Parts: sequence; C-alpha cells; structure tokens
Amino acid sequence: MQRNEILMVYGDDAESMTRALLERINLASFVPRTARIALKPNLVVAATAETGATTHPEIVRTIISYLREHDYGDVRIVESAWIGDSTQRGFKVNGYDRISTESGVPLVDVKQDEYLKKTAHGITMEISKTILETDFLINLPVLKGHCQTAMTCALKNMKGCLSDSSKRLFHKLGLHDPIAALNSIRSADLVIVDSLNGDLDFEEGGNPVQTNRMFAGLDSVLVDTYGASLMGFELADIPYITLAEEFGVGSTELATARIIELNSDASNTQLRPTGRVRELQRHTLPSSACSACYGNLIHALARLDERGLLIDLDQKLHIGQDYKGKSGCGLGIGSCTCGYTSHVAGCPPKAIEIVRFLERKISARHESDSIPGV
Ligand code: SF4
Repeated sequence: MQRNEILMVYGDDAESMTRALLERINLASFVPRTARIALKPNLVVAATAETGATTHPEIVRTIISYLREHDYGDVRIVESAWIGDSTQRGFKVNGYDRISTESGVPLVDVKQDEYLKKTAHGITMEISKTILETDFLINLPVLKGHCQTAMTCALKNMKGCLSDSSKRLFHKLGLHDPIAALNSIRSADLVIVDSLNGDLDFEEGGNPVQTNRMFAGLDSVLVDTYGASLMGFELADIPYITLAEEFGVGSTELATARIIELNSDASNTQLRPTGRVRELQRHTLPSSACSACYGNLIHALARLDERGLLIDLDQKLHIGQDYKGKSGCGLGIGSCTCGYTSHVAGCPPKAIEIVRFLERKISARHESDSIPGV
C-alpha cells in the first residue's frame, strides 16, 4: 500500500470489512514479526459503539486474529478515556476486556502508564511510554463530529496517548496546534477508520449516522482530509489538519490521492435516527438509499444548518436507488437521480460535494428572488 492511497470498504459486517482491508494492505508483507504493535481504538467514553462514540470491538478482534495468524506476538491495546471517565469502564462496556482475556493481548490504560516528556513546536507534553516504544502503531479512530474541532478522526485520536494533565493543556491551547504537534512526534503507521455509524456532532455519541463504511490509509493527514470531505467540511474548518501537514506529518493532497473502493455501496440504509438526525431527515425523500450516500447527505445538511442556510432549502431532496432510470422535477443526490432537474453526481457523492451543490442552488434562488419581477 502507498501513502497516497486510501482503501474504502462498504458494508455492515465489521469483521469481514476489517478482514478485506487487512488482506489488501498485506500488513504481513512489510511489518517484521518481532515488531511491538499497539492498537489505539477510540474509547473516549464508556459507551457502546452503537452510540457513535467508540470503535466497534469486532474491528479490534479481527485485527488481533489476523496478527496472531501471521505470528505477531507482541500486541497490545492502548487507550485512555477522556478526563473524568474511566478507561477500564470503556474496556468493559465495549467487551475489550473479553477480547483481551480470549486473545492474551494486554490492555494498557494510558492513565496508569508511564509517560515521557516530549516537546514539539514549542509545546511540551507527556506521552504514553508504551506508545513511544511501539514499532508499529495502528490507529483505529471513529470518524465523527466534535464540538470544539468540528471533526475527530486519526490525528485527534492520538490525544488518547497523553497523560490527563497534558490533555488539559491541549484544551487550554485550543487543541489545533497541540494535536498537530503531537502527531509530529508520533503519528500512526496505519489508520483503519471506523465509519460505520459515527456521531454527527459529538465525540461522546448520541446521534449516530449510519454510513456503513470503513477506510484505511498510511498517512494520517490524508486520512483526515478524506474524512473531512465525507463529513462535508472544508479543510479551513479543521485547522489541525493543515497544521499537521505544515509540521511534516503528511499530505492534504486529496486531488492526487488514489481512493480504492474494494466493493460498492449497495447496502440499503436502515436508519436508527435520533434527535438531530431525525430533524435533518425531514429535508429528504429517500427510497432505497445506500447507507454511505444517505449518511453523507445527513452530514451535508448538518453543515448547511450550522451555516444558517438550511432554512432556505425550500424542497426535499431525492436520494436512492429507486430513482434510477426515472425522471422528475426537483433536486437529486447521487448518480441514481440523474433524471431529475438537477443532481449532484457520484456514487456515493461526498458530503462536501453535496454541500457545495446545495449552496449553489440556495444562492441561485436568492439571486433570482432579488431580481424584481422574477
Ligand atoms: S448514487 Fe444510488 S447507488 Fe450510488 S450510493 Fe447513492 S443511492 Fe447508492
């Protein structure tokens, strides 16, 4: 696998999806069997993966099976919950304690680990000794919203490798600079993103959006750049990504990246909408919409809402496979709706493409409203 590649797999079976990614990455061909390997999930709170907050345990279980099958002996799971919550509870609630017992892979609670002080770009921080002594770090973030940084994925998930006092410092410094600095000291060697049902707005979950996909890459900056586009963000919305690029962590060059889809998004969405997701759904007319397609639309609508534009969307949006081959009036999302008056192409289109398309439609409407007699 090359650093400018991202592998995408769709589906709702985390085990087979993880297996497909690992086989394609062919980890065993380039990671020495003696390597000390750390798996860094996201267990920021003691909540199950279904809430949209934490990494699905099947992903961790499957990676461990793969590593065992290929004779890797030194593997551990390393994580810390946010300040005020117990990592041990997070391990238990998500069944990581059972995975550890069954596989013999130890759980390392960073809150109880030793730390080494490191300084980068003028910021001194305490980082888990286990992480710094790791030869191959597999980061397993959840792609989801965040109330302070807009989005969290690979780069921000590394914050769980810090002491609680350094986490406090990061918040005091506004998160963006220190997150980029931390990744310039140690970033992941491989990122496998859980984007099965990450939360729309908050890292602690509660409004999961089912997108039924996972993706992987070697470059944390590229992975986050891609994740941002799937959630409908411009890079300017998430300053730590470009800062990390400036600090030499990786590249934001999505335009020249190779996005390799291992299968197509064919799963019909089975929504379990809560709160804000249900509100956003009111703007849609789904009919057999694939999960990633519909999830991207929900994220796009959330971005428009944050900018105060959703109120100006005066029609419902067609989306789904049942619109394929049909023609009609109105706006469509995805290639299936190419027979409608206007549509955003893509199968599935990224959320950022949907945002730009709808912004153009809304601004065109404003312009025609402002011309007298039109
Ligand atoms: S455009 Fe149609 S087939 Fe493609 S992802 Fe969207 S709903 Fe599915």
